[in-house]
Amino acid sequence: MIQRFDVAANIMKLDEDVYEIMKSPAKQIEVSLPIKLDNGKTQVFEGYRIIHSTALGPSKGGIRYSLDVNVHEVKALAAWMTWKCAIANIPYGGAKGGITCNPAVMSTGELERLTRAYTGAMSDIFGVDKDIPAPDVNTGPREMAWIVDEFSKIKGGFTPGIVTGKPLFLGGSLGRVEATGRGVNTATLAAMEKMKMNPKKSTAAVQGFGNVGSFAAKHMSDNGIKVLGISDHTAAVYNAKGIDIVKAMAYRDAHKGIIKGFKGGEQISGEELLELKVDILAPCALENQITDANAGNIKAKLIVEGANGPTTSAADDILRKKGVVLIPDILANGGGVTVSYFEWVQNRTGYYYREEEITRRADSWMSKAFQNVWEVAQQHKVSMRIAAYIFALNKVAIAIKSRGSF
Ligand code: NAD
Repeated sequence: MIQRFDVAANIMKLDEDVYEIMKSPAKQIEVSLPIKLDNGKTQVFEGYRIIHSTALGPSKGGIRYSLDVNVHEVKALAAWMTWKCAIANIPYGGAKGGITCNPAVMSTGELERLTRAYTGAMSDIFGVDKDIPAPDVNTGPREMAWIVDEFSKIKGGFTPGIVTGKPLFLGGSLGRVEATGRGVNTATLAAMEKMKMNPKKSTAAVQGFGNVGSFAAKHMSDNGIKVLGISDHTAAVYNAKGIDIVKAMAYRDAHKGIIKGFKGGEQISGEELLELKVDILAPCALENQITDANAGNIKAKLIVEGANGPTTSAADDILRKKGVVLIPDILANGGGVTVSYFEWVQNRTGYYYREEEITRRADSWMSKAFQNVWEVAQQHKVSMRIAAYIFALNKVAIAIKSRGSF
């Protein structure tokens, strides 16, 4: 985060005061959360909430449950949220939270007690106009419902706008489930237009077939792009004629969420998938998938990052020298947080939109965000990654300067 932040700050000659302010998070909260386990013993978990910036509005960012959660990771993720919201043009700052735990070995009751303890500890941090959490790794609508319930009890009034990514019946938004993947496709089409690529004559490979990857693949395929390869952590499949994405999704849903055994193509390795001869590559799984070890072998001329951090900075340099256009995560996967913002707006106004209305707005917001970053890239003659940082830093810098409270 800091590496790319520094490059962008140098190119745009970012004001030194603003640089210092943005380099560190505005607030860091660390809590110890004692909960009773099912075996009667008490265990104390570490929880974090890092608020990177509130210059543009209340801070926004997910909560992850994982043994890997640590304060350094959460700090970087919180800053990324600041940039992502600024690029998406939504009136939010950035934050991230997490609990160091292994949800795979915890019961539903233990997870509920932990989520409620975390909400209680953060009840003065969270707020509809202060800090609005959302799901992240290993958290989802279920945890968000517990947070709404606990927070509403503590504050003495139903407060659905305290989190986004809620179940529909508690004030969740239509269109949220597929929003990130849909936005990845919108960003892809916008880039293709600039690159004069015809979707109907283009091919793609998509790594990761979860929420983001499967909807990205589906929307690409609906727009005429032939998706030749898909993968998840269990398998990778190639079909020169194009994979039937609807069938692959149905197979995955009927097989515990995995595509292993899907017969819609031949089996290849996960490494081969990334290096397929395709026009577009969409990494939508994990971080650090495109590295200096494989970047040289990548054949796609357009990479669209659905996942957070799938490309290392060493790989960035190799791809740039090869002339590959890369649409960075903080732009490409902003469709999710955009619809989260629509969810929050609906909770605040109490008026709920139809799905067509949400997707129409989300598409138009993503196209605009893409155009903004594209223009900065042309103006400064930099990659889309650095342009995205410059756009975001500039926006946050103007807000910090004009609020002028330091
Ligand atoms: P998910 O859990 O629904 O899906 C992840 C997918 O990646 C699964 O299909 C899994 O099998 C696959 N995977 C894991 N390891 C892999 C490997 N080694 N090779 C190939 N595939 C592998 O998660 P998701 O919500 O789709 O999130 C994917 C990425 O997108 C993450 O980086 C996440 O932070 C990012 N993201 C998600 C959202 C969102 O709204 N869901 C928003 C912004 C960014």
